[in-house]
Amino acid sequence: ILIPSLGLVLAFWFYSARDTFKPEMLRGKRVIVTGASTGIGEQMAYHLARMGSHILVTARTEAKLQNVVRRCLELGAASARFVSGTMEDTAFAQRVVREAQTSLGGLDMLILNHVGASYFGFFDGDVEHVRKLLEINFLSYVAMTTSALPMLKESEGSIVVVSSMAGKVGFPFTVPYSATKFALDGFFSSLRQEFAIQSINVSITLCILGFIDTESAVRAVSHVIPDTPAPKEECALEIIRAGALRHRQLHYPARAVGTMLLIHSIAPELFESIVRGSYRLENVRRT
Ligand code: NDP
Repeated sequence: ILIPSLGLVLAFWFYSARDTFKPEMLRGKRVIVTGASTGIGEQMAYHLARMGSHILVTARTEAKLQNVVRRCLELGAASARFVSGTMEDTAFAQRVVREAQTSLGGLDMLILNHVGASYFGFFDGDVEHVRKLLEINFLSYVAMTTSALPMLKESEGSIVVVSSMAGKVGFPFTVPYSATKFALDGFFSSLRQEFAIQSINVSITLCILGFIDTESAVRAVSHVIPDTPAPKEECALEIIRAGALRHRQLHYPARAVGTMLLIHSIAPELFESIVRGSYRLENVRRT
């Protein structure tokens, strides 16, 4: 009895130790954060700075990126720099990765977080908008991953993909956005399987987020969705933590997202009718 019990205690201890996050895990690590001029990406840059990482941030708005870089250096980043441009252009996505190669000499963590603007309302039939959003929210993630893979293989690093509940479950009023987020799940879940088969030690963390209090999200949905959004600062830290611990998936906020996914998997129609019933449909923009 004693030996199996001791084995169980040791196994528990080993598992907990393996699952313990320490900010030092990010000290000196070379990290790219996309979509880091505002919102969750900006907060991730500040957390990484406090942890002493080398940070490369990107987005379109140069003035905002300059401020983020300045703040990162004040907070203690080992180094901080930016590249500005649009992720509509695959060549730009590849250029960001090349910048990590030349200025940082490699890469330990690739955090894919940027998101193109879309609308919150009934699908308006604009196919070009869907194509453009796929380029920004999906194809650029694929392009950056592909370019960064040689460096990530060398460092045995991590890919962190920021997705959404809308990339797991069909919510109304986010048709183009939801399509791009479902695509991320397909691409990265399949790629993770291939990494396992080929013994490639690069982790992939898919982050399933609920409603977070970033300016753009609150502006877009708070007149329809009655929920209280979760704080972006905590969300950003949880994303970094999940990436550093090489978790396959993050649910944030954990209880709300976990419960919704569970109900959806057991009773999808019931879940969908609860969602529809909770929205203030009278405030939805009609096409
Ligand atoms: P924000 O709108 O606050 O930030 C989006 C970032 O992406 C900005 O830095 C923006 O900078 C950049 N960006 C936008 N368009 C482009 C483009 N064409 N090329 C390059 N960069 C671009 O988003 P959040 O912080 O709210 O969201 C971050 C992530 O979290 C996203 O992937 C989102 O889908 C996910 N998420 C967020 C939720 C929420 O409630 N907030 C809920 C679920 C998921 P710039 O304009 O300067 O280019």
